[in-house]
Amino acid sequence: SSSNAGQSQLTDGRWGDGTTLVDILSSRSETCPERIAFRFLEDESDSTTISYFALDRAARRIAAGLQQQVEPGSSVALVFPPGLDFIKSFLGCLYAGVLAIPATYPKPKRPSARLSAIVEDARPSAVLATRRVVDLIGDSAVSNQLGDPTWLSSDDLEANPHSNWKKQNVQPSDLAFLQYTSGSTKDPRGVMVSHGNILQNLEMIRQGFQLSHHVGQVGVCWLPAYHDMGLIGGILESLYIGGTTVLMSPLAFLQRPSRWLRAISDHRAVVSGGPNFAFELCMRKIKPEELEGVDLSSWEVAFSGAEPIRATTMRRFAQTYGRYGFSKSAFYPCYGLAEATLLVTGGNGPGEIATCTVDAVELQKNGRAVDAKPTHSSDGQPPSESTASSIEFVDCGRAPMDEEVLVVDPETCLPCHDNQVGEIWVRGGNVAQGYRNRPVDNEAIFSARLADGRPDAFLRTGDLGFLRKGSLFVTGRRNELIIIRGRNHYPHDLEATVQSGSPHLIPGGGSAFLIDRGGDDHLVLVQEVDRGSKQEDWQQIIPEIRRSVTAEHDVFVHEVILIRMGTLPRTTSGKVRYSEVKQQYTQGELAIVHQWSVGQSVNS
Ligand code: ATP
Ligand code: MG
Repeated sequence: SSSNAGQSQLTDGRWGDGTTLVDILSSRSETCPERIAFRFLEDESDSTTISYFALDRAARRIAAGLQQQVEPGSSVALVFPPGLDFIKSFLGCLYAGVLAIPATYPKPKRPSARLSAIVEDARPSAVLATRRVVDLIGDSAVSNQLGDPTWLSSDDLEANPHSNWKKQNVQPSDLAFLQYTSGSTKDPRGVMVSHGNILQNLEMIRQGFQLSHHVGQVGVCWLPAYHDMGLIGGILESLYIGGTTVLMSPLAFLQRPSRWLRAISDHRAVVSGGPNFAFELCMRKIKPEELEGVDLSSWEVAFSGAEPIRATTMRRFAQTYGRYGFSKSAFYPCYGLAEATLLVTGGNGPGEIATCTVDAVELQKNGRAVDAKPTHSSDGQPPSESTASSIEFVDCGRAPMDEEVLVVDPETCLPCHDNQVGEIWVRGGNVAQGYRNRPVDNEAIFSARLADGRPDAFLRTGDLGFLRKGSLFVTGRRNELIIIRGRNHYPHDLEATVQSGSPHLIPGGGSAFLIDRGGDDHLVLVQEVDRGSKQEDWQQIIPEIRRSVTAEHDVFVHEVILIRMGTLPRTTSGKVRYSEVKQQYTQGELAIVHQWSVGQSVNS
């Protein structure tokens, strides 16, 4: 039959049209039943594994249970600690034809804003969790805060015979799951990802990363499974290509980043990555003695995405870990967002990072990326990331397959010329079906039309960037732009300058924004300081911050606020939540240790 035709893998490793993840996993459980699909590192010495066969059977059992408990097509929120149970249940939902909603795992007894926002927005028919979690929070204040939904235990569901599962007839246009956005700029919104979207994006990633060269290869992933990068990049891509992925909890990584590099070394992993901050964290926290015997030479694709990518971070990372076998040709900078399933642009395989350094004034005043005049450094070092007169951007690659990525003037809705900054628009089979229950937003964001009369609908990403010979350079988010005297500044550029001022300042722990003071815009810089710093340090840091920001960006700083490390509002994926920072600032809720504002200096 035609639906069977879709299930076979074409000779180049690509799956036929109409295939679903359910077909792929079922077929792998026959062709490579014993192969380890996932290994979860419980701690330094213990790990749990699941084979392709066992995963397929577990998904069938859970699906059989779900089919008795909830209507097909209804939605179920997944609340799991990091580990294999989440994967079994997520796939169980796909097998059952139930819409999975990966949600956060709350700390016991602690209500989670993300979880309640998701449950309130999605109104799932049930919340699925392990027996332990159901016992822990099924009738607690946390559950109460969620409106006491119906709780289902995955352990109970898994007790069903796999033969009770009824395979659904799934079409590519049917929804597979609801991916909530990170919530950096607003409350997380539920992106409707269809079976067709996910397969298209998995194939785009496979081609972009050039994974076809590594059949059955190993990945390492510590990214949260309820965010797009962890779920799709870490878990689903691995199933798609029939690889093995070694997982660890995000906390295990954050507490001791050397675990990430050691896992890559121990398991001879080929693919692994994360946001820029993860590469920074390694350099800041790992002591050389933690890396004894570590060999990173197997690491062929080190992807970086989800937040602005800094060339200096990549260069320093390559330099620092080169002696452990890390290859600077392994970098894979990429750009994407949940609304386009995950990946939008990336290179044609990994490589050395490519950058362009553009004139700051031309960029900020005219939105034009004009090459900066080369600076001649006497010590032969590469130019620093940005100087007073130039800004360096990392090449985030191009659109794979038949996806179309344009940079569009957001006012006129006409495509920009090369090197002109505008809004990034995307069209392709990976663009999702819209936000759930948000018809007005969907019309504006998912069905944008060019003013030149072309009928095609585009996704407006809200991100700004420019194209140069087909490559995309992302400059920042449109609604976080800081406009001072007609010049556009991106918060992360100002923040990077702040953070370069002292080792006590936490990289990625800053937030720059404008506040209206009686009709005047005041530039406020909020920045986390490390635990080892003291009053004297803070007093020295502030003038240095003001000096460097003014010197490099030609702006006046009105306020500098140093706050305790770890208190800047972040998403569960570690991104700074700008609107929340601003709100805490206004309401006096920041954990301030020292602050300076024009004409005064106060300590807490
Ligand atoms: P929310 O939409 O809820 O505010 P979010 O936009 O952070 O949160 P995601 O979809 O997970 O949620 O993240 C996508 C965003 O991350 C992009 O829109 C972009 O702003 C940023 N991003 C992703 N890749 C890059 C990159 N390579 N360079 C700069 N920014 C990036
Ligand atoms: Mg977003």
